Amino acid sequence: AATMVKPALHVLLAGPRGFCAGVDRAIKIVEEAIRKFGPPVYVRHEIVHNQFVVEGLRAQGAVFVEELDEVPDDAPVVFSAHGVPKAVPAEAKRREMIYLDATCPLVSKVHRAAEHQSSAGRHILLIGHEGHPEVVGTMGQLPEGSFTLIESVEDAEGKPVPDLPLTYTTQTTLSVEDTAGIVAALRRRFPDMAEPHKDSICYATTNRQAAVKAIAERSEMMVVVGAPNSSNSVRLREVAVRAGCPHAIMVQRGFELDPALMDGKATIGISAGASAPELLVEEVLARLRQRFMVTTEEVVVAEETITFKLPALLTR
Ligand code: SF4
Repeated sequence: AATMVKPALHVLLAGPRGFCAGVDRAIKIVEEAIRKFGPPVYVRHEIVHNQFVVEGLRAQGAVFVEELDEVPDDAPVVFSAHGVPKAVPAEAKRREMIYLDATCPLVSKVHRAAEHQSSAGRHILLIGHEGHPEVVGTMGQLPEGSFTLIESVEDAEGKPVPDLPLTYTTQTTLSVEDTAGIVAALRRRFPDMAEPHKDSICYATTNRQAAVKAIAERSEMMVVVGAPNSSNSVRLREVAVRAGCPHAIMVQRGFELDPALMDGKATIGISAGASAPELLVEEVLARLRQRFMVTTEEVVVAEETITFKLPALLTR
């Protein structure tokens, strides 16, 4: 009888991957708020785009809602990491609610810069995806009609734009390459467009894309741990394919992965979106070990040391 020897599978782990400083802070804000105020603590929108994280917080006493009017006046409420339109904290203040803003400080920076440009009389070309909560939040910092959403190179080349001084800003979690193409098209069409002070694609998005790029050519398949509504996770899958990996799939949990997909492959890559905990990467590895003798190799393109402070209301 044949002895069952598991075939070998080498796994390249993209570094950095998974949690960014903004996601880490947002989750801590909900946990600390529950500790300080006791459950229930309401959270407007999925705090970060990861079902496993959301379920974990729900088990601790978080209640997730889509709009502020679903929250009673006397319950604490947390706003998600993606940012909120200005009208939301204004309404919370008017209702004298206890609220905590878990908007990533890097998103808040984009908000303040866009507001500043707008009050200087510039029309904002907002590069991003329609309907994403971050885009809704950024639009909600600006007066009606003072911005135009640009979703593609075609928009950049042809979407009607008012005859006003222009500048642009972007969602923090876009593809670095696609965005460069869109900005180049805008510059060709509007040579006088003012440049923002700083790129708004964040360090975490940039590093995670660079790390996937670094392992893409050596990987016969890329597994991205993340959620389909997580913008930065979806981008990682695209980056993998564009950088030469023949197949890239996304899974939210280990059990979703069919390890037989790796049959006949020698080397694969794994990354995780900024809202996916490392525990889920470990689940995927455990799943692969059911079928293969797995060896792992970390390929690190950048060290991340950035952390963000919690709001004063939770630390004093
Ligand atoms: Fe902040 Fe970037 Fe993380 Fe979004 S992906 S929460 S902008 S650090």
